[in-house]
Amino acid sequence: MAGNEAGHGAIVRNRDLIDVWIEAPRGNRKQKLICKELVQKTAESILEIINFEERDCRIKVICKWGFDGSSGHSQYKQKFSDLENTDEFLFLVAMTPLRFIDIETNKVLWKNESPSSTLYCWPIKFLFKKENADLVRNTEKEIITKIENLIPIEIKTKEGHSYIIEVDMMLTMLDGSVGNVLSETNSTMKCIICGATPKDMNTLAGINRPPNVDNYRFGLSTLHCWIRFFECLLHIGYRLPIKSWQVRGPENKAIVEANKNESKQSSEPSCL
Ligand SMILES: [Zn+2]
Repeated sequence: MAGNEAGHGAIVRNRDLIDVWIEAPRGNRKQKLICKELVQKTAESILEIINFEERDCRIKVICKWGFDGSSGHSQYKQKFSDLENTDEFLFLVAMTPLRFIDIETNKVLWKNESPSSTLYCWPIKFLFKKENADLVRNTEKEIITKIENLIPIEIKTKEGHSYIIEVDMMLTMLDGSVGNVLSETNSTMKCIICGATPKDMNTLAGINRPPNVDNYRFGLSTLHCWIRFFECLLHIGYRLPIKSWQVRGPENKAIVEANKNESKQSSEPSCL
């Protein structure tokens, strides 16, 4: 859609966003304002590109946010002033705007058509640290405090209209390991909603397990569902010639391995 392409460009071109992303040193006032500035820049950029009839209204901006760590990055000789930091690990906190809603009429003024794309994903904070339970808990606390301190922001557009922006940030951008820590589930093999283990999942009695409704707040990641379902189908596919989940004996192992390699080779060109 031509309209959408123009919209993406306007946001990407807004270079001064980058200044807001980088965490200011401790004690600096800017650090405390970082969430507000980020939300303000996001709202300004989107208000500039969308065309709607409503003027001078109160808008609720619904965003998702979350964090994740990655490891195995190249290590360089430059030393960090804080010796706890290492460039082997990266921990990123990010947010994505999802919807702009007119508070009075509940009308959706703008909807992010590609919510899983990195295009609208603004980093809030980078840390050169390894993801662990303490870092996850502290980051959740820190960002939630910042969100709670967000007050409605007034934005004036170039055409002279003014909008009051209220923000609703939902912590739903997380993977299994972060979800486990935040929901205080003690094993990554357990379901964070009903606490079922793989053993429970193979019995019909497990269907009626009571859900922990509190944990619904973490949302349901369709991205992870797609990946997991596809992975499951792949593994079933690899085992089709032997018709058994357990791969036992050298003969069966060789069959499954050969099938796996064949599938990988035949799917590679289409993945490029
Ligand atoms: Zn469950």
